[in-house]
Amino acid sequence: MLNPGYTTISKFLIQQVPEGPHGRELAALLVDVAAVIKAISAAVGKGPLVGLAGLAGTENTQGEQQKQLDVLADEMFARGVEWSGLVGALASEERDDVHFVEGHGRLALVFDPLDGSNNLDVNLPVGSIFSVLVLPETSRGTSAVLQPGTRQLAAGYAIYGPSTQVVITVGRGTHGFTLDREIGNFVLTHPDIRVPEEGSDYLINASNRRFWEPPVTRYVDECKAGKEGPRGRDFNTRWVASMVADVHRILLRGGLYLYPRDQKAANREGRLRLLYEANPMAMIVEQAGGAASTGRGRILEVLPERIHQRVPVILGSRQEVERVERYHAEYDRGEDKPYSSPLFGERSLFRNG
Ligand code: MN
Ligand code: MN
Repeated sequence: MLNPGYTTISKFLIQQVPEGPHGRELAALLVDVAAVIKAISAAVGKGPLVGLAGLAGTENTQGEQQKQLDVLADEMFARGVEWSGLVGALASEERDDVHFVEGHGRLALVFDPLDGSNNLDVNLPVGSIFSVLVLPETSRGTSAVLQPGTRQLAAGYAIYGPSTQVVITVGRGTHGFTLDREIGNFVLTHPDIRVPEEGSDYLINASNRRFWEPPVTRYVDECKAGKEGPRGRDFNTRWVASMVADVHRILLRGGLYLYPRDQKAANREGRLRLLYEANPMAMIVEQAGGAASTGRGRILEVLPERIHQRVPVILGSRQEVERVERYHAEYDRGEDKPYSSPLFGERSLFRNG
């Protein structure tokens, strides 16, 4: 039975999207994106039943193997928004370059159609991430989408987990919706999400420890030292290895998510992509009262030079982000004091300052 207070995503967007030069187009585009997400949710939810579980036999722009569902989700996004005349350009993890759409559409949709797709093999959560920009009047070149995250009109992600949820911001807070599968509506279930000020989780791929910079090792060591360490309390570590799932946890529970810059050759500037992973998540987290940093500055202020540019990502509870930024600043000034536990006699291994 429908509850009378039931707010669908369409109703919500009509009320939320600010008036302004692109307000109507933005609300309409986000409704289209929500429809795309329902379709991807249905495809992903069938798992191996429909024979789409395997590799596509192709590589994406990063030289990574594409799964059939990566390619299908990319096509679903393109087909789901191209027809409307609202979108002038698309950029995706799965496309080498910007794809321009015929017509007068002034909005650009930049997206990671399927995030964490390696998790499909083991039936763990995956997601989609997207960002909306306004195209400049004149430019029809790649540079049209090379805009800092502060210019995003809207950002959002979908998580295909036990339930399918969408989290969206149009610059007026961050709000979450859950797909009611039988009825086919996204229903507002998490209005005005606030990242808890303090969290006890830190999320990082610890196998990269030997490649981290000292400020990151310092932060993690202090968390690991728990009650006996300088933080004076215990922490937990979690890692799903799908950005959407890990950031979703941080958004709702607080704490810190890190995919930092490291010394592993391929990840020198981080692993995550600025335009369609870091920027949308940074806007969502900031709009929920959290912070998002490269360790050395606000992610949303990074000026992109390439579509598939990577960037270090440290986001979550504001105080934790500020602490890691402070550790980076102290390290860069040569003033840091890496934590060494009296209990374990453990020292920062790769002090290279
Ligand atoms: Mn991704
Ligand atoms: Mn992807």
